[in-house]
Amino acid sequence: MMVCCAHLSAPFSATITSRYRISLANNSSFDSKVYFTLTSPSRSKYNQAELKKKKRNRNFAIFSNFSVAVPSDDFVVVNFYRFVFIENPHAEVAKHLSFLKGLDIHGRIYLNEQGINAQFSGPSKDALAYVEWLREDFRFSDVLVQVSPANNEHAFPKLKLRYKPSLVQLEGSISHLPLLNPSMRATPLTPFEWRKRLEAVHEIVGMSNSAIGSNYVLLDVRNGYEWDIGHFVGAQRPDTDCFRSTSCGLSNREVVASDPLANADKNTTNIFMYCTGGIRCDVYSTILREQGFKNLYTLMGGVSHYLNEEGPREWIGNLFVFDDRLSLPPSAYKPDTDSKATAIVGKPQQGPKNYSFANCFICGSHVHELRHRNCANLDCNLLFLCCMNCVKDLRGCCCLKCKTAPRLRPVLPGNQRYKKWHTYQNWKCKAS
Ligand SMILES: [Zn+2]
Ligand SMILES: [Zn+2]
Repeated sequence: MMVCCAHLSAPFSATITSRYRISLANNSSFDSKVYFTLTSPSRSKYNQAELKKKKRNRNFAIFSNFSVAVPSDDFVVVNFYRFVFIENPHAEVAKHLSFLKGLDIHGRIYLNEQGINAQFSGPSKDALAYVEWLREDFRFSDVLVQVSPANNEHAFPKLKLRYKPSLVQLEGSISHLPLLNPSMRATPLTPFEWRKRLEAVHEIVGMSNSAIGSNYVLLDVRNGYEWDIGHFVGAQRPDTDCFRSTSCGLSNREVVASDPLANADKNTTNIFMYCTGGIRCDVYSTILREQGFKNLYTLMGGVSHYLNEEGPREWIGNLFVFDDRLSLPPSAYKPDTDSKATAIVGKPQQGPKNYSFANCFICGSHVHELRHRNCANLDCNLLFLCCMNCVKDLRGCCCLKCKTAPRLRPVLPGNQRYKKWHTYQNWKCKAS
């Protein structure tokens, strides 16, 4: 059994689900577990005729390959990754740094011999300039780039662009994995194919508990706290609050009850894996492939790409993102989402009414805002789901003890992340 990651304050408990801890004091702890962020373009914001018009207009940044037109000063978050051999990653880092000089880009861009993993924010014109520059390189010319709105400010505190030994944080590192060999990864399904598969399975399982149910596993390859605010219908909550210690499917001898792959047949079980943007599935499917699992499928571009293409069908809740925005509703990805899309005949009802999975960390009641908040006690900083009554009672803290802590920050009105401590230094704590 692998250990859970050190940033958690206490072992995971079945009733206390919606939390994890971040350190804002220097952001290092937050960064250390910010593994993957992929969000998606608000593609349907403009129709094609409007797009053409805007292409002639310098005030719009046109992400042409994916039909996104955003006012050039509007902030966006951009995500992409690519596993590809980079012969001299340090020189590549220098090249990227040099290009980004003068552009207003914040975020995490990591490179090594296995490729690139990037999440960043900036005015859309700067973000677009970087993407276009990257795509001039044949190794990245067809990279799936995802864009989402960023509340007119940076979603990351600063730019970190550097060589990183592991593009994805996983225990034991990933540098030894054959990630550059696509046949070692799961078979990617387009969002449309993914939806069709899920619908077919849910239909059959809904009618009778037939064999297909046991021959199929929908695997959420994320952290438990991400599942807590949104997931695909039928996906089990990951038994970990840290993907890096994920061990499902790896229990060769002892059968672990919480392992969704414990009873899977390596030759016949169809395993459908998904994560936020796809990179975690690419990595983890390679590990499962090495373990002998044959029928592995992954959602291409992850949930963010899916919500953008298919809307929230088969999906419940919001999508957790690893930046200051914390989470985004499906409508951020597909603004013209048809409400009928969430009510599929014969399926569990999806959408804002079904919150049985989203409970307040303190009192257990359903929360209506599917967004974590972090504890007002700077020295705790736990990220947790909280109802508004408990926010009021505990002054934005996660527990009574934190409520009397010395370094308390003011209660945030909504579910936002606190900024750095110096922002609140002149604020006088009125805690009673
Ligand atoms: Zn509560
Ligand atoms: Zn706390």
